[in-house]
Amino acid sequence: MARVYNFSAGPSMLPEEVLKKAAAEMLDYEGSGQSVMEMSHRSKVYDSIIKGAEQLLRELMNIPDNYKVLFLQGGASTQFAAIPLNFMNKNGKADFVITGQWAKKAYQEAQKYGECKAVASSADKTFSYIPKLDKNEFTKDADYFYICMNNTIYGTVYHELPDTGDVPLIADVSSCFLSEPIDVSKFAMVYGGAQKNVAPAGLTICIIREDMLGNARDITPTMLNYQIMADNDSLYNTPPCYTIYICKLVLEWLKEMGGLEAIKERNIKKAKILYDFLDNSKMFKGTVVPEDRSLMNVPFVTDSEELNAKFIKEATDAGFVNLKGHRSVGGMRASIYNAMPVEGIEKLVEFMAEFEKANS
Ligand SMILES: *Cc1c(COP(=O)(O)O)cnc(C)c1O
Repeated sequence: MARVYNFSAGPSMLPEEVLKKAAAEMLDYEGSGQSVMEMSHRSKVYDSIIKGAEQLLRELMNIPDNYKVLFLQGGASTQFAAIPLNFMNKNGKADFVITGQWAKKAYQEAQKYGECKAVASSADKTFSYIPKLDKNEFTKDADYFYICMNNTIYGTVYHELPDTGDVPLIADVSSCFLSEPIDVSKFAMVYGGAQKNVAPAGLTICIIREDMLGNARDITPTMLNYQIMADNDSLYNTPPCYTIYICKLVLEWLKEMGGLEAIKERNIKKAKILYDFLDNSKMFKGTVVPEDRSLMNVPFVTDSEELNAKFIKEATDAGFVNLKGHRSVGGMRASIYNAMPVEGIEKLVEFMAEFEKANS
């Protein structure tokens, strides 16, 4: 059986070693006589999985002790409502930077709960850059300041965090989770859906500074109340058990390879191969300003729709799948998350060079 190179933005590739380990443990997890899929989430054996995953995550991300780690459901999109319900309750205000569709959705959802200000936006150029921020625009008494760290659809990333002073900074890191070290202590909360870089779909990881908790408004649904989830160690109800197990295997894989510094180095190497090619190609062009380029999502275009379509079709036939850009942008996008091997990028670039030669 031949496996394809999958450039999907999410759900996306998982490390082959992880899939093999999961397959080997499918029928009998560590002598329990059961699959992890079948286990009680309150059993001792499962407890070691969820606790183990949290421990590994804390270790890899160097999460300070005064932060809670929550394993939740509902996707990143559910947090768009949970965040204002839990945190927008002192002055009822929050600031947002609109760097793409995910930031905008979070902003729009939060508007249901309080006064939201878009302090900057890069909508004028199809979100192809991270806007410069003017501190004078920031709301001094905002309950939090919200960013989407890596913009999955457009391929931009913050290389420098906004300086929000005493205002808590919250970041959606769905598509750059565990792709490089981050300083968790700079944030009041970071969170992300797991299906881009951490696990299959169904799990959302929220890392929240403890002093943020306890202010949820009364109408907050129990399932969206971070304090309740934290008090119950993410086991208020049935968690996404199997997804958390795969998450643990991915974290073990990361630790084995040397942690986040090592994966960062590999991600830089991978992205450089693709960006160098794009910068030198006469047919293909990256769409993002060089200083804001993401290591994870690389959108690119040719100057013709027909050529884009032809490229996507031929690439798919050759085993490079899911290269079609997001429907709101068009063109192509290669999502090159942690699990994409260097070889996958090398082969893609080889294929692109051949396509360019054959079609110019
Ligand atoms: C994919 C994505 C989302 C949406 O995630 P769901 O889990 O599908 O709700 C939100 N933010 C970012 C940055 C994403 O990449």
